[in-house]
Amino acid sequence: MIQAPRGTFDILPESAARRKVVEEQAEKILSAAGYRRIETPAIEATELFARGVGEGTDIVRKEMYTFDDGGGRSLTLRPEGTAPVCRAYLEHGMHKLAQPVKLWYLSTFFRSEAPQRGRYRQFWQVGAEAIGSPAPETDAELIVLLAELLDGLGVRHDRLRLASLGTPATRAEYREELRRFLRAHEDELAEEVRNRIDLNPLRAFDADDRRTRAVMRDAPKLLDRLDPADAEHFAQVRALLDDAGISYELDPTLVRGLDYYTRTVFEFTSDELGAQSGVGGGGRYDGLIELLDGPATPAVGWAAGVERMLLVARDLAPRAELVDLFVALGQREATRAGFELAREARRAGLQAQLELAGRSLKGQLKHADRIGARFVAIVGNGNGRVSLKDMESGEQRELGPSDVIPAILRGGRL
Ligand code: ATP
Ligand code: MG
Repeated sequence: MIQAPRGTFDILPESAARRKVVEEQAEKILSAAGYRRIETPAIEATELFARGVGEGTDIVRKEMYTFDDGGGRSLTLRPEGTAPVCRAYLEHGMHKLAQPVKLWYLSTFFRSEAPQRGRYRQFWQVGAEAIGSPAPETDAELIVLLAELLDGLGVRHDRLRLASLGTPATRAEYREELRRFLRAHEDELAEEVRNRIDLNPLRAFDADDRRTRAVMRDAPKLLDRLDPADAEHFAQVRALLDDAGISYELDPTLVRGLDYYTRTVFEFTSDELGAQSGVGGGGRYDGLIELLDGPATPAVGWAAGVERMLLVARDLAPRAELVDLFVALGQREATRAGFELAREARRAGLQAQLELAGRSLKGQLKHADRIGARFVAIVGNGNGRVSLKDMESGEQRELGPSDVIPAILRGGRL
């Protein structure tokens, strides 16, 4: 039997209902704040991610599904949404619109990772991006919106880690300082960290290795090196979050996986998720649009994993699926009348299903009960009339075909 590829999953109708709650919550919360939905292609030029996510990141180094399009162009299944949204912003001249341009998405993403609970090769993210504003209010508002989404879904035990990465210049200087520090402690570091001192020294803070962690406790922290403008920006973001009653932990070691972040970075985590504790996160990426050949444009955004949110969400109550009417066929010849009655019922706004399996009348009534049909209309008793059965009270009445739908719409008092 052919199975779905490792690390992928089917969304069966049962789980689709819970996912729809996530979509509705996101839509409600984000559109109330003026974010409009965008959908970009699942494939993009590989260069978009190489440049826009960064050659030094895990994503670009080992997590992308990249292939040749047959004509010598390298394409990649999108591993994340920010670079594609920025590409679309530039491609459609959105820098000419009133700024910031506020966009959100709910899409699938692809990363070649070892599959685990909460970590898949094709997964879904809800994301939001505000492009074109440097104001700390934008950062704070986006964090508040993600907090509201998580709250609304009852995502439990979330912690918010917050930091600022400063501007590229501060970061470059700091990276050099950190490299010097790491080289001075080279023999105490895990091999993986040692190998990446040049490429990505910040990742040393992420290491699991015990000795590396001990070394990193005394490492210089970027938060202590911010220039006055960045420190002020960060202070304003924090003040707004304080006012909004959002609690957070300042985490000077917070390293987001993507290279393009500047200033604010944040991540919501849930201990219930175990190793894959990140539920959603994001930050400011003032340099990205320019990196993609656009004008210098400040921007900030986040993405949250739909599957991880669902793993820690409280029981989401999807709306019950109602079946107002099941059209049963008393005899084969009734097919056309039954087909027409079901269509008419749907036109009248009812949820109506037709017998499609050639069951006996007894079997059809059993099936109607199983799917929770409120009424059953039995068409084709031989007398040209329809028997309408109220499945709650068990009452049954003979009606003319044109009286069936009005009777149901009246609330079914037979
Ligand atoms: P992690 O540290 O767990 O690998 P990340 O830093 O790579 O996460 P981001 O790139 O920030 O994650 O993506 C945002 C969110 O998308 C994550 O917080 C997580 O909820 C979700 N996510 C990321 N990778 C996966 C995956 N492979 N499977 C399912 N969800 C994922
Ligand atoms: Mg990752």
